[in-house]
Amino acid sequence: MTVHTSTPPALGSSEHIQLTEQWAAHNYHPLPVVLSSGDGAWVTDVDGKRYLDCLAGYSALNFGHRNQRLLAVAHQQLEQLTLTSRAFFNDQLGLFARDLAQMCGKDMVLPMNTGAEAVETALKVARRWGYEVKGVPADQATIIVMDGNFHGRTTTIVSFSTDEVARRHFAPFTTGFRTVPYGNAAALEAAIDHTTVGVLIEPIQGEGGVIIPPEAYLQEVRALCDRHRVLMMADEIQSGLGRTGRTFACDHEQVVPDMYILGKALGGGLYPVSAVVADHDVLGVITPGSHGSTFGGNPLAAALGREVVAMLSTGEIQQRSSELGRQLHDGLEALIGHGVESVRSRGLWAGVDVNPELLSGRQLCESLLARGVLAKDTHGSTIRLAPPLVATEEDIAFLLTAFQSALLDAKTW
Ligand SMILES: *Cc1c(COP(=O)(O)O)cnc(C)c1O
Repeated sequence: MTVHTSTPPALGSSEHIQLTEQWAAHNYHPLPVVLSSGDGAWVTDVDGKRYLDCLAGYSALNFGHRNQRLLAVAHQQLEQLTLTSRAFFNDQLGLFARDLAQMCGKDMVLPMNTGAEAVETALKVARRWGYEVKGVPADQATIIVMDGNFHGRTTTIVSFSTDEVARRHFAPFTTGFRTVPYGNAAALEAAIDHTTVGVLIEPIQGEGGVIIPPEAYLQEVRALCDRHRVLMMADEIQSGLGRTGRTFACDHEQVVPDMYILGKALGGGLYPVSAVVADHDVLGVITPGSHGSTFGGNPLAAALGREVVAMLSTGEIQQRSSELGRQLHDGLEALIGHGVESVRSRGLWAGVDVNPELLSGRQLCESLLARGVLAKDTHGSTIRLAPPLVATEEDIAFLLTAFQSALLDAKTW
């Protein structure tokens, strides 16, 4: 009897694109590249072409693709136990919660999976804290959010988005939110009243285009929250865990929020892991049955999250981010007047506005793709660069060369 062991021919990139377009909903507009493997800061497509990954999973991949330390932890935990539900204890969650809380200088952790879930958790905690601790009248709690925010995609979160594309035809929306201009402390103070329980803020607005608030603004927000007894809720899902050259973006202003909202890199780019981290007087309002998640705090997530915390504990990766960030910033600044209009950066995280008459952000990303660099435009002619923090000086030089060449090319269009 003949045994046929031959595998069918591998699909090419156009077949994968066609399958995805036909069978997966069109909630994204990806660049035409089909990736099949990754290593550190680099990924390889189905045709064997390599690219420097300058999006890094929106900073979920701060530690790079297939980080060996994280892979080893994942393999070990996969062989032990992966899910218990929170109906029982497991031997990983307590250790993870302790290490993460200590890194944040807080008392306790509420583990979830995705960023949006952690934001939702923070909103619920703030409201309950408002009623039970601050004494806000029943059903009146308000939370202040910022113009240009991005906090995720759930119905409540898009209720206070200011991006019409994210909101259109998803009404009716959740009430109880007030929007103020980002970076304006006077406007924030004017919006606070006796119903205000929290201020939800990105210390740097990532999806907004790496928008850095004016100096001392975060300190002013902290002071206003203290004065009016309002919880400062820092969404560090994208800005945190080394991206800006510090553990948290709030660290640049020596500000400690009441709640850290974490996600993305907390799972090491392997697995969705998110959390809200706060003191007992805040997270203590959550009681059995009032909040939960089937997967939140599972042993695989906890083992990975704990290893991420351990990797941040030496400060090496933060140092690396800030050194490579300086190289990236200097290189991009040298392109101002040569197609680049402005550069905002902190650590290895840059928002670059290019001359819209030269090319759109999308066109620039397509041109970078042809040159072996993956990046993503945000709004119009702004692109964001955030390579994995394990990149090398040579990688950053490669990115800068590709960027310059793409702009030079655009001149002749
Ligand atoms: C990505 C992101 C979120 C949402 O995280 P998901 O895991 O996609 O739900 C929330 N806040 C900020 C600042 C983010 O960058």
